[in-house]
Amino acid sequence: MSNFEYANAPESKTIAKISQSYDLFIGGKFVKPKKGKSFNTVNPATEEVLAKIAYADKLDIDLAVSSARSAYTKVWSKLPAKERGKYLYRIARILQERAREFAVVETLDNGKPIRESRDTDIPLATAHFFYHAGWADKLEFAGVGNNPKSLGVVGQIIPWNFPLLMLAWKIAPALATGNTVVLKPAETTPLTALLFAEVCQQAGLPDGVVNIITGDGITGAALVNHPDINKIAFTGSTEVGKAIARSISSTKKSATLELGGKAANIVFEDAAIDEAVEGIVNGIFFNQGHVCCAGSRLLLQENVMDEVLEKLKKRMSLIRVGDPMDKNTDLGAINSSEQLKRIKDLASAGDSEGANRWSPECKLPSKGYWFAPTIFTGVSQSHRIAREEIFGPVLSVLTFRTPIEAIEKANNTMYGLSAGIWSDKGSKILWAAKQLKAGVIWSNTFNKFDPASPFGGYKESGWGREGGRHGLAAYLESDAKVNK
Ligand code: ADP
Repeated sequence: MSNFEYANAPESKTIAKISQSYDLFIGGKFVKPKKGKSFNTVNPATEEVLAKIAYADKLDIDLAVSSARSAYTKVWSKLPAKERGKYLYRIARILQERAREFAVVETLDNGKPIRESRDTDIPLATAHFFYHAGWADKLEFAGVGNNPKSLGVVGQIIPWNFPLLMLAWKIAPALATGNTVVLKPAETTPLTALLFAEVCQQAGLPDGVVNIITGDGITGAALVNHPDINKIAFTGSTEVGKAIARSISSTKKSATLELGGKAANIVFEDAAIDEAVEGIVNGIFFNQGHVCCAGSRLLLQENVMDEVLEKLKKRMSLIRVGDPMDKNTDLGAINSSEQLKRIKDLASAGDSEGANRWSPECKLPSKGYWFAPTIFTGVSQSHRIAREEIFGPVLSVLTFRTPIEAIEKANNTMYGLSAGIWSDKGSKILWAAKQLKAGVIWSNTFNKFDPASPFGGYKESGWGREGGRHGLAAYLESDAKVNK
């Protein structure tokens, strides 16, 4: 068995018809940016340019916001809720029909394995539209007050780690609750959002209900500061989230901010170790570790440390790193050269602060941006790799002796987005879950998502919740409080 090799199983690219260039999607049409500026989006696995993307600046944002405002006042806010639901169902079905095309484009633009875009990103995005389609005409029964009222025009800014899925998390609840949107995808992954613009056209969505503008942080900041925006929904780094919070503090704009994380994945001595090892691998190596809720701090009870580490290293040696379009690949490309540099810098800080680095032997492709799956042992709480979000396939391993020590170490972070608990004892799981300061807690599993389940963080991991009934309330006027 030692020579067992997988034959290549490449997914075909032919289904993805990527244009050479893309314009902005405003008022239901693709329009040229006023100043004619553009930037390239690149396949991070090959460094090939995939397409030229329009760069939106202030004038384009003015146009997008006014188109969203006029769609809101003239059409969308007047439409019976049932009709809004129909559009969402239509979008969900089209996404389902075009799922393979979306998966291929997502993998080419983002670098994630096709297995993940095909089996996770696109199905979850579709599920989000189906879920919210169902809510559109039942908001009075969502526990958000008797007469739920939409906010108006929402500015939405999303990151590059789950491009279509984050778009779905933003657009589906906003539309279900009667708002219109201007959405800006991340500069390194705009393609599935632009493909989604075609889906809006195909679904016959009224012009201006969804507007997609492409650009970088300056474009994002201009959207945040536009005076005719009622709410900002942002997912991204804590640093940018704080900047957004500062810039809207003197306005009436509301906000949901879904920011960074440094989740503890706690393995107690009574855990099923083989299952826990799978959960550890899934927790940190899924999506190259580009996951805000990744289990990036492994807390091991001291007496099972040797066993867990031995099994973990063996399991990591089986992770297949390489071509994201190969259906056998587990770990794809890092999304950009900037992100690769950030990961390398933090990993070097781990070395220089005295932690021990280990990676399995693996041959990385010569072109593109790659980082081998890595663990650091001998990590102490003061190390940068135990405190800062690496957002890559790098796991920091810490140990504990008593359950109380595990909780103290787990909560010793500025973040609080997620956590994992591995134990055979239900009472211990409930005891630990109660004390962990994290928005999402998984027990004996990790990285499970469902549109009905609210997602969000404590402390510097953000404000508000997305998904579920709580996520609906975030798109309705502030008297709409979810009854638990
Ligand atoms: P990351 O560090 O993971 O790249 P960012 O927070 O920088 O995450 O980016 C997330 C999204 O926020 C992207 O769409 C990016 O263009 C946008 N963005 C970056 N800077 C700003 C800003 N100052 N204001 C608004 N949006 C921004």
